[in-house]
Amino acid sequence: MPATADRLKNVSVSASVAMTQKARELTAQGVKVISLSSGEPDFPTPSHAIEAAHAAALGGDTKYPAIEGTPALKMAIQRKFKRDNNLDYAPNQILVAGGGKQVIFNAMLATLNPGDEVVIPTPAWISYADIVKFAGGVPVQVPCSQANNFKLQAQDLDAAITAKTKWLLLNYPSNPTGSACSRVEMAAIAEVMLQHPNVWIMTDDMYEHLIYDGFEFCTIAAVEPRLYDRVLTVNGVSKAYAMTGWRMGYCGGPQDLIKAVSNVNTQNSGGVCTLTQAAATAVLNGPQGLLAERAGIYQQRRDFVLERLAGIDGLTCHKPEGAFYLFPNISAFIGRTTAGGRKISSDTDFCLALMDEHHVATVQGAAYGLSPYVRLSYATSLQVLGEGCERIAEFCKGMR
Ligand code: PLP
Repeated sequence: MPATADRLKNVSVSASVAMTQKARELTAQGVKVISLSSGEPDFPTPSHAIEAAHAAALGGDTKYPAIEGTPALKMAIQRKFKRDNNLDYAPNQILVAGGGKQVIFNAMLATLNPGDEVVIPTPAWISYADIVKFAGGVPVQVPCSQANNFKLQAQDLDAAITAKTKWLLLNYPSNPTGSACSRVEMAAIAEVMLQHPNVWIMTDDMYEHLIYDGFEFCTIAAVEPRLYDRVLTVNGVSKAYAMTGWRMGYCGGPQDLIKAVSNVNTQNSGGVCTLTQAAATAVLNGPQGLLAERAGIYQQRRDFVLERLAGIDGLTCHKPEGAFYLFPNISAFIGRTTAGGRKISSDTDFCLALMDEHHVATVQGAAYGLSPYVRLSYATSLQVLGEGCERIAEFCKGMR
């Protein structure tokens, strides 16, 4: 093969994908693996979305798609932004791409010059830093400690911003911690951003509807309308509507920015599959009751796992407001040895030993930029979660 491009040198393979792959391999060998590593809802895609895709296919909607999104889908997104976020985005301020991931990727590609900095509250979704590097930028990770419930603090944000800062990237509820910001907390972030008029804000609201105990989701352009003109609000159907395989994400933002991102879109994709666009239109326009219903189920699972983790000596875990992840602290196990004789020197060692000795797939905090933690996904049944927790408890109990 030809030598790979320099731009790939600092870009890693996602650790969660790697762990999920390892789980698949062991499963193929007949091992019963408990997978708590995948960031994917276990619910089915709503049937009205599937029916809409089916009807579109039968109706001949099989030609090249509208790259920036069909008019019907853009209208559905416009309504969604108004309904859920009280944000007004005209159709020419809206763009569709192959998942939230592609929206973020294309937005970075459209706006970053070499050396431009992107402030990323950390721990953070694995892909942010790699996408920024891919686009020639420099990720600036701002540590958000457990003591602050993993939330970005105004003074830390202010200190991280330099003359080179292009973007602040927000993601609340967060992958991997599940932390979400209240309006007051978001207003404090907004207040700092008002002092830095050259910095833009990309907010990844992918977990908007996965929120518990009556906590109210908020997004920065709605909390502080004076920032509206420099916010890109990113969302998608993957997590909310269990449509990870359909590949559709979208964003709303200032028209010039949307035009620039759209320009990248037209070069690196032929648009989102027409059937997916029909399904996404149906799901965004359709009944929204399933969101609260499913959030109720996730909340029950979160509490179920938290209760079991609390019974494991040495593990501490904060109670998150949203998403479907827990991020327990495993510092008590660093320096110890597993029942299988493996020395635990890091959270990566912990996850690998847990996988090899008890066949539970998790992801190390290091992959998200904060150690020593482990990310557990509870987007699976109570039965699987129960068995996973038992195995984790055994693993921890067996440590010397
Ligand atoms: N943003 C966050 C925070 C995520 O956790 C994920 C998926 O894990 C994505 C974006 C990707 O979403 P999509 O499936 O829409 O590309």
